[in-house]
Amino acid sequence: MKVLKFGGTSMGSVESLVLIAKIIKENLDNSVQMIIACSAMSGVTNNLIEIGHLAENNNEESAIDLYNNIKNRHFETAEALGIKSEFEKQTTHLFQDLQNLIRGISLIREFSERSNAYLQSFGERFSTRLLTAYLNKLNINARQFDSGFIKTQGINFTVDEIDWEKTIDETNKILSQSIEKNEIPIVTGFFGTNKQGVISLIGRGGSDLTGAVLTVCMGWKTLEIWTDVDGFLTADPRIVKNARIIDEIGFQEASELCFFGAKVLHPKTIRPVIDLDGEVWIKNTFNANNPGTRIKRKAEENKYAVISISSKKSAWYLWIYSLHRKTENRYFQTCLFWLNNKIFPSI
Ligand code: ASP
Repeated sequence: MKVLKFGGTSMGSVESLVLIAKIIKENLDNSVQMIIACSAMSGVTNNLIEIGHLAENNNEESAIDLYNNIKNRHFETAEALGIKSEFEKQTTHLFQDLQNLIRGISLIREFSERSNAYLQSFGERFSTRLLTAYLNKLNINARQFDSGFIKTQGINFTVDEIDWEKTIDETNKILSQSIEKNEIPIVTGFFGTNKQGVISLIGRGGSDLTGAVLTVCMGWKTLEIWTDVDGFLTADPRIVKNARIIDEIGFQEASELCFFGAKVLHPKTIRPVIDLDGEVWIKNTFNANNPGTRIKRKAEENKYAVISISSKKSAWYLWIYSLHRKTENRYFQTCLFWLNNKIFPSI
């Protein structure tokens, strides 16, 4: 039982959607129960934000051009996957709504937080319908869900505070029913609904949080985040040629590496799974045979003294983390000082 979350690049092309279907099929063949959470196709969320600003600034024509780009990209992908008419059936009303929304924003020249959240939600609503139609074409019993059952706190439209009690209740009820019917739920990432039942966003990169929320709501222990990198590496591969993949890392170490430059994920988003002693895997859709990195609350003792090195150009220092608990401080401080002064004086 696990939740698989696919990011924007994984959802972004015909080739990558074919790879996703393969990954899902393999799990299915191994009788794994699954829920899938998806981002929008890569770049679409940014396009939607731009559309909002264009419409607000009386540039409806450019906004509609960009809208047409998004629409064409989805339809071209659907056509290449052989699901154009099904996708059209599932999304005609959505594209109409989006066009009306653009008109509305441009008429009143107001792009409020509420309109912004609604506007951005279209990316995931399109991408999940695309994937679902494709899986159905392959005779995989998948069913699309808009994630309104993820409840955010308060009445704002951009929050990352989940109303856990309500969310667990509703999400579990709806998705369990689907799973009982042997369906694979395909759930929109990135948004939920607020106290008033209105769409609210759960932060950029929020689909990872959606994945974590779904995992917790189902009482499951495994979340796989499928992206376009092999996992956490021992160093930046652009700088260190023989950087290795770290097979297992503790949440604390992962968070520190992310803070100091490793752009693998936003640690806060996976915290709900880690807090319940679950595990989160970082995996590469484009290199699925690679096992990836497992993140746990606490990693096993590592045979290497230094687990990874990451750096931020804007920061003046380099972060080294030792997994040798006993020597941690001394090791860390000596290495930091030495490397900083001798090897990377310019960082
Ligand atoms: N589509 C949203 C974003 O670009 C959410 C996500 O990809 O996780 O931030």
